[in-house]
Amino acid sequence: MRLQKYIALCGISSRRKAEQLIIEGKVMVNNKIITALGTTIDPSKDVVKVNDKKIKEEKSKVYIMLNKPIGFVTTLKDEKDRKIVTDLIEGVKERIYPVGRLDADTTGLLLLTNDGDMAYKLTHPSNEIMKKYIAIVEGVPNKMELEKFRRGLIIDGKKTSKAYIKIAKRYDTESILEIVIHEGRNRQVKKMCEAINHPVKKLKRVSIGEIELGGLDIGNWRYLNDEEVKYLR
Ligand code: URA
Repeated sequence: MRLQKYIALCGISSRRKAEQLIIEGKVMVNNKIITALGTTIDPSKDVVKVNDKKIKEEKSKVYIMLNKPIGFVTTLKDEKDRKIVTDLIEGVKERIYPVGRLDADTTGLLLLTNDGDMAYKLTHPSNEIMKKYIAIVEGVPNKMELEKFRRGLIIDGKKTSKAYIKIAKRYDTESILEIVIHEGRNRQVKKMCEAINHPVKKLKRVSIGEIELGGLDIGNWRYLNDEEVKYLR
């Protein structure tokens, strides 16, 4: 690749400005100043410095939301050979990975990215990002059970943080609940519902902070829009 093209790819300057930098003797390849404009380099081997600072190719950041179907796992490999969520994202050349996890039998909003800083921010407990779920559970929780859920209950030997729960619909033998939690412990919603004796039959995540699944069909994905990306950053 031509040296000036590589400098531009690294986000240092335009190609024209890069030519100027080369002519001015500000560019080194493998610690040798290069002033010839026709110079080509191999980005995988050669070390290029501009103004004495090593430069790196700028990888574009990608942000995607998926409506995860049942049966897909959110790891990048599965020892049981189950299907993985990234199989559903076709035509994206960047190496993306899921942010946080959803159980294989949970559906709904999953974010995928190659932006490690954003993934860290979203999953770090101290940031208390609210995640909203719709759960179909056995039976209808009574007032006391709802209160217990809200105040926090012990799962895996540790009390859960304050949570939000509301009955959206009640039927004879089951109910639909809206649940919001900010923690991300393993199978947390299911364990919390179990702890108030209303096991989850179906679980779907519908939002993460201000990012909402909206009407995205199951199994479909889309890039986040500018506003959503701005919120995440
Ligand atoms: N809580 C669960 O129990 N399962 C999920 O997939 C997500 C949250």
